[in-house]
Amino acid sequence: MIRSRALTLLAVLALAVLAAAPSCREEGLPPAHAERVVMVSYDGLGADLAWQWIDSDLAAEPDGLAGLAAQGLAVRRLRMSSPTLTSVNHATLATGRPPSATGVVSNTFHRPGTPVTETVAGYSVSYEVPALWTVAARQGVRVATLMWPSADAGAVDRMGDLGVVWSRGPLAPSEVLDLDPGLAGTTGELISKDGVAPLRWVLELPLGKAEPAAVALEVATYDGTPDAVPRSDTVAARVEGDGSWRLAGEREWLQLELEARSARDERPRRYGLWVKPLFLDRSTGGLRLYRGAAWRLTGYPDDFEDRITEVVGPFPGLPDQRLLADWWLDMSTGIDLDTFVEQAERLDRYLDRIAEWVLANEDVRLVMAYHPTPDEYQHSSLLLAPDQWAYSPGAALAAREGLKRIGRSVDRSVAALWGALDPGRDALVVVSDHGLVPIHSEVRLLVALEQAGLVEVVDDGGERRVAPTSPMAAGISGGCAHLYLNLEGREPGGVVRRAEAGELLARAARAVADLELDGRPVAERILTRAEAAELGLDHPNSGDLIVFLRPGFGASSRLDGETVAPSAVYATHGYLASHDAMCGVLLARGAGIPRTEQSELPATEVAPLVARWLGFELH
Ligand SMILES: [Zn+2]
Repeated sequence: MIRSRALTLLAVLALAVLAAAPSCREEGLPPAHAERVVMVSYDGLGADLAWQWIDSDLAAEPDGLAGLAAQGLAVRRLRMSSPTLTSVNHATLATGRPPSATGVVSNTFHRPGTPVTETVAGYSVSYEVPALWTVAARQGVRVATLMWPSADAGAVDRMGDLGVVWSRGPLAPSEVLDLDPGLAGTTGELISKDGVAPLRWVLELPLGKAEPAAVALEVATYDGTPDAVPRSDTVAARVEGDGSWRLAGEREWLQLELEARSARDERPRRYGLWVKPLFLDRSTGGLRLYRGAAWRLTGYPDDFEDRITEVVGPFPGLPDQRLLADWWLDMSTGIDLDTFVEQAERLDRYLDRIAEWVLANEDVRLVMAYHPTPDEYQHSSLLLAPDQWAYSPGAALAAREGLKRIGRSVDRSVAALWGALDPGRDALVVVSDHGLVPIHSEVRLLVALEQAGLVEVVDDGGERRVAPTSPMAAGISGGCAHLYLNLEGREPGGVVRRAEAGELLARAARAVADLELDGRPVAERILTRAEAAELGLDHPNSGDLIVFLRPGFGASSRLDGETVAPSAVYATHGYLASHDAMCGVLLARGAGIPRTEQSELPATEVAPLVARWLGFELH
């Protein structure tokens, strides 16, 4: 008995060594790697936040974040690339290279050789080095990209074999409607109980340049419960022409669908919109209704888009930051925090269903998935400090509770992905791109540069814009700004002679360095492009001057008002990666991944590790 147990233990140890040591290859043993790898990025899941969830009881799913941290590779801090922005770090995570190699230096940047006021989005450019999906394809590994930033299917090097891509925006924006009983008609189709007459409104929903150009929504309130109490308690809605009504009680959701062909589509698509009665007046039947935006799912190739839409339905949309921002400042307007968090949770479940279906039905070995929810929540709701615009003790309490719900939703997502894999053969990798910190002020750098005579602004049909003849322009995102000279011979129509460049940059640096709030400077570092080499940011796409703000300040590209003003965005990122608060996480579990804890790892290590777990080398 004792002997057999000892032998078993030896066998287990031998297996563990085999699994842990890729160097076994030299001895002719097969490399220990995973059959399939799911790499999922939770945007804005900072190291501090993730470990707070893991170390408290919040991450309660046995196979969620805590399970991952306890059973596999757990890196306390993933040191991101500077600036700590989403597109910059997804480029680093996907390629294993810093911005100086990928060319993605910000979420918004200018490219030399183009007019100085022209910028591109870091999400829609090709990387200058191959991404994991490209190298994987060369190895015969089939890849699915599920909303992974930059994998937008806009070019052959920005897509896998199949996938869904980040939405280009809704067909129709959302709105909150107050439906007046005095303006309602009625309907005989809904059987109202207890002597209350149903009320019915017809709302036009314009669809812009789509075909059709508009649809009509029918909304009704009535007494759906035979309880001898005459009161309106049920809301019904449908797209006019549809047979059946969708029903919801107060503060419940209902989903509507419509078919339309937008100006971008070559054929009609299925669009969905979610509707929530925010308040139903029991006695009058009057209604305050949130009508969500109309979205569709975009995928590639076309037949995959059709298959996946058939299974999971149209895209439910992003949490509505615009209407939540209204509510934080005036709680009689917009949508409340519960409604926003419900949207985030719905999106997480929807994205998980896509990943689960792909893993069950498609022959892919690498899945690169993305959830925007922690980032969206914190930008709009990380209201923790008295110096923030919409702060009150009650708001802070609500904001903390909301964040916990986001934590549970992320934890559920991790557990769902793990549940969709074979634990003996597959691996799950959880990463993130940065943390966020609360902010109180926005810094309008272009206003400061205009006051210093370095940016020229023109009036363009009532809107202020940087002039094509301006000496300087900027690419601004989060806590970072790239400032570009309009240089003769580099920018078409450039107005700055090379001999003047040094003096102009010195003046710009002084104008930014002088900006302060209550004696506190807003800028943390101002570097020339050459100096940015130490940050891995010396690329021709980088600014001639690069400004990193201090945490607490967000950079704004607004051209009006004060240089420093209260911010209606409550958290941001994009600061220097040296701040621990900007670190992301890396947790991985499954075949070929031994249990290890590591205090810190650079984000450039993630892609080579993922490649190795799949059994090939990235570089
Ligand atoms: Zn992000």
